[in-house]
Amino acid sequence: MSIKQALVYKVAKHWIAGKDLEEALKAAQATNEKGMRAIINYLGEDVSDPSLIEQNYIEYLKIQNIASERRINACIALKPTQFGSDAQSEIEKIQTLAQEGMKLKQDVWIDMESSALTEKTLEIYLEVLKSYQNVGVALQAYMKRSEQDLLHLLAIGGRVRLCKGAYREPANLVLRSRAEINDNYSKLLRILFERGNDFAVATHDSKLIDEAKKLADSHHVNFEFEMLKGIRIELKEELLASGYRVSDYLPYGNQWYNYSMRRVTEHPSNIWLLARSIL
Ligand SMILES: Cc1cc2nc3c(=O)[nH]c(=O)nc-3n(C[C@H](O)[C@H](O)[C@H](O)COP(=O)(O)OP(=O)(O)OC[C@H]3O[C@@H](n4cnc5c(N)ncnc54)[C@H](O)[C@@H]3O)c2cc1C
Repeated sequence: MSIKQALVYKVAKHWIAGKDLEEALKAAQATNEKGMRAIINYLGEDVSDPSLIEQNYIEYLKIQNIASERRINACIALKPTQFGSDAQSEIEKIQTLAQEGMKLKQDVWIDMESSALTEKTLEIYLEVLKSYQNVGVALQAYMKRSEQDLLHLLAIGGRVRLCKGAYREPANLVLRSRAEINDNYSKLLRILFERGNDFAVATHDSKLIDEAKKLADSHHVNFEFEMLKGIRIELKEELLASGYRVSDYLPYGNQWYNYSMRRVTEHPSNIWLLARSIL
């Protein structure tokens, strides 16, 4: 690692659990000690090399099994493209991980990638859901299609993690302004509370979290807040102290750089944090 990368890594440690599985499990344990479940993600996407696909698959099996052996309250979150681009083979791998999760009483979350993959990711999810109800999928409030997707998933008993969306997308597919995205998030949140159960509210946005708390007062459903490691730490503590369930998403692995840069560009104060560590 170059000196610059080492300095960036110091800041990146804020948002990632480390570079290897042992570090991730330690972070998961620390997360449990704070009262939160850990959602462990092995970083990477768009993998085509068969040996790397196999490596990703084995890594997820290890996370599930070692977490269970050590009695860590954790589950995995994966991206289908970590298992290549052949839908059938992605389905088979996710089915095996779902089965392992079922045996170990762990959930499996499927992250949503860019809009080019939305349809395929949902097809994969629907196939896996036929046999495994411990699996959920992320929907992005910035996507214009998400309301229809949400209604469909809820009608067939799907589990949803609602987030705003993190990719740069073609203008015709997404809502553009922050206000429109937040309004759509509110709308989808209400649908989740009115028609869903066992879902995840994945945002750090105080206003939306307050809306979820209000909806929870009048709709007695199972849900949890999910947030990313290193972001809104005090808010997580407040939610836990008020009795809400919170899970912390812990990404780890060699691909830490791109993930960390996504977090940096998301929020201006992080650019400062990074600049201060390098200068
Ligand atoms: C558990 C979880 C899973 C996710 N899964 C996916 C997925 O599968 N697909 C996908 O496209 N996206 C995913 N995301 C990312 C999500 O779409 C957003 O890009 C990200 O969460 C920022 O949106 P926000 O809801 O926090 O709202 P924002 O409006 O971005 O932020 C609200 C407030 O949170 C704080 N905040 C947010 N981000 C940062 C940051 N980087 N540093 C410091 N403070 C910050 C700030 O106080 C900000 O004002 C996930 C997010 C979470 C929490």
